[in-house]
Amino acid sequence: MSEDKIQDQNPTNKEDTYEKVCMLCRRPESKVKSMISLPNNICICTDCMQKSFDSMNNSNINYNDLLSGMQSFPMMDFSNITNQVPERQRLKKKKPKNEPKAAFDIRKLPAPHKIKAGLDEYVIGQEHAKKAISVAVYNHYKRINADTSDGVEIEKSNMLMIGPTGSGKTYLVQTLARLLDVPLALTDATSLTEAGYIGDDIESVVSKLLAAADNDVERAEHGIIFIDEIDKIAKKKNTNQRDVSGEAVQQGMLKLLEGADVEVPVGANSKNAMVPLTTVNTRNILFICAGAFPDLEEIVKNRLNKQASIGFNADLKDKYDKDKNILDKTSVEDLREFGMIPEFLGRLPVIFTLQGLTQDMLVEILKKPKNAIVKQYQKLLAMDEVKLVFEDEALWEIAGRALQKDTGARALRAIIEEFMLDIMFEIPKDSSIGEVVITKEYVTKTGGPRILMRGQETMYLEQKQ
Ligand code: ADP
Repeated sequence: MSEDKIQDQNPTNKEDTYEKVCMLCRRPESKVKSMISLPNNICICTDCMQKSFDSMNNSNINYNDLLSGMQSFPMMDFSNITNQVPERQRLKKKKPKNEPKAAFDIRKLPAPHKIKAGLDEYVIGQEHAKKAISVAVYNHYKRINADTSDGVEIEKSNMLMIGPTGSGKTYLVQTLARLLDVPLALTDATSLTEAGYIGDDIESVVSKLLAAADNDVERAEHGIIFIDEIDKIAKKKNTNQRDVSGEAVQQGMLKLLEGADVEVPVGANSKNAMVPLTTVNTRNILFICAGAFPDLEEIVKNRLNKQASIGFNADLKDKYDKDKNILDKTSVEDLREFGMIPEFLGRLPVIFTLQGLTQDMLVEILKKPKNAIVKQYQKLLAMDEVKLVFEDEALWEIAGRALQKDTGARALRAIIEEFMLDIMFEIPKDSSIGEVVITKEYVTKTGGPRILMRGQETMYLEQKQ
């Protein structure tokens, strides 16, 4: 077990791992010159202490009167006041600089093919996306550890993922962060607005990452920020009003994407007088943006068709109309036309697309990944010593229904949940049941599941409407 963990479990040492906060100005220890500790866990920074003395000296107080007055009051108890800093708003102390322990040991960072192999266990298909993300992440963490004294500075490999809803964009990043054991903050670009307007400040994304890193600034500075629905902050077309949730958000994000010192509140989404602040540098934070970009296909098609029908090599005018993987041919130009500003795109150098899921892929998603839905149900029933089997045709039927809903793999769980409810309710009633087979008929509601008793007999459960 690491030293940190041992310290965290010991309540007496826990105080030492968190920064003290000044009772008056609420700044943490790292932001003040020095902190004076008083009895009852009260801490006051030297600035506030000096200001208090100054104001007392300037107000011509007669100290004899004050002292005699104080004697008639019971002693003040500040212990409740200091306890007002909630646990989630406390900052972890930075580790001392003289023991340079890199958050990432480059020798321990898995090579791209190993990262991809890890992703393969959970994410079905999307081969190109998995390859692109593995290489980009590997380069990103190499860049963090790189020596810049030779003047060669490696560019940051922030990413932009384009793919239909439910195709695994978020899942890919979640799996990646878990494999690499780095903190991850997931946010939605639709909630962001320019600072000062209703909505979340752009910098609130960094605050979320800090929370995901247990308020450990160093860990947060090597984390990943995932911003979904990035297409929703495209420049609004034909508008005379100030575009506070579109172009302005893109502008506001430039600084963050590149690397800047951001002052963020600890344990809260907005800055206010009662919340301690800290500084997080975003230079080594990996930003991954994702979106479905609904009308992008049309833009790419138009561009390609136009190119194809010009000049000596003129081709069929509608050559690309039926191309299923048209989004693979997306260029930065197309994204600009969609409404992303060039400066923003310039800071997301790795752009790749995810395919819409096919029925075959949906079947694989049901049964293949390490924590596949089918495996989860099998585990639940195995606890009742009942074997659960899904017929291939039943899985194909479920996948077909999910495909119709047009929400990618997201629809799968809802569909399977619907007919598994009866099974999960009925089966534990009868301890003689040994096996349940989910048939196509049961999924299409034209029959029941096949039930095998512990003695291998077959019978049908009555179909419920
Ligand atoms: P989006 O692309 O809209 O971000 P998500 O990543 O949130 O979609 O996908 C929703 C759910 O569907 C995930 O939690 C995951 O369980 C499942 N899923 C989607 N795509 C895949 C895939 N390619 N492989 C395995 N599971 C997937």
